[in-house]
Amino acid sequence: DELISQIAAGEVVERPASAVRELVDNALDAGARQITVRLAAGGVRLIAVEDDGCGIPRDELPVALRRHATSKITNLHDLESVATMGFRGEALAAIASVSEMALLSRTAQQASAFALDARSGELRPAARGTGTTVEVKELFFSTPARRKFLKSDTTELAHCVEAVRRHALARPDVGFAIWHEGRLVEQWRASAAPDVDADAALRQRLGDVLGDDFLRNSVPVQLRLGAVTVTGRAGLPDAARSRADQQFCYVNGRFVRDKVLTHAARTAYEDLLHGQKQPVYALYVQIDPQRVDVNVHPTKIEVRFRDSREVHQAVRHAVENALAAPRA
Ligand code: ADP
Ligand code: MG
Repeated sequence: DELISQIAAGEVVERPASAVRELVDNALDAGARQITVRLAAGGVRLIAVEDDGCGIPRDELPVALRRHATSKITNLHDLESVATMGFRGEALAAIASVSEMALLSRTAQQASAFALDARSGELRPAARGTGTTVEVKELFFSTPARRKFLKSDTTELAHCVEAVRRHALARPDVGFAIWHEGRLVEQWRASAAPDVDADAALRQRLGDVLGDDFLRNSVPVQLRLGAVTVTGRAGLPDAARSRADQQFCYVNGRFVRDKVLTHAARTAYEDLLHGQKQPVYALYVQIDPQRVDVNVHPTKIEVRFRDSREVHQAVRHAVENALAAPRA
């Protein structure tokens, strides 16, 4: 079982950033409003993700580490329309099998927090407010072959920051902080009233994460075509870059890498961007969950649309319209 977990781990965690992504997913699923990520040595020595979510009840701490133990899906039908980020119940088990993991958690009902050491199984009372801290130390210590593939701490740190950035762009209502070796690397504050003005909240977050320059040099995207709604902001040609590293696409709140979406956006820029310039954008696609399959890959970064033409058209038109609209 240890071996099976380690093999599964290979699919779920290839580097510290993959663990960061999974742990932040879990924090968001737990309803966190503030998520703090602490890293050491690019995440290889330490990844600690601290949230103020609902917490894990004492008796469920050992269960959370078990493979295919998920509190999020109760039947196969749910798979069709998962609203939570996680649903496979393999992330914690996988990460624990290639690291030294500890869980520290407290629910609102409990008088104290409890800490679980994954390796020894030792469970003891601890101090903490409501929420969860997952601590991952010495990633890949037992799989040196995999550890050898890791890049420099600086590169791994950059990937970790990127993983959090992707979440941050999807959730302006949640505050994020990233620390590395005791130094604050990034901090994105939660919007004060995300429910009152979601547009303003997203605008602020886009400015915080992508820079005020991007805000000045971009236009709002807003289009509904059939079953697909596309929102977000598209950078003007002036904001284009040499690399395609500032293209963020979301499907029902999930960051995805998808050729249909990038191609649609690319097509919308075709006449505006010549040469090798890459547009900058953050696009949010909302679609009936029945029309998209998110269960394609363990990392959930890929999706499959039931009707990719409908999505392609919606995204292309959304961006084209935005870029063509007269600017105030
Ligand atoms: P999944 O997210 O697919 O359910 P995971 O292995 O990522 O599987 O997590 C296993 C379970 O542990 C979750 O279903 C959840 O019940 C619990 N859990 C993990 N992280 C947290 C967290 N930060 N806050 C509350 N519960 C958590
Ligand atoms: Mg999960």
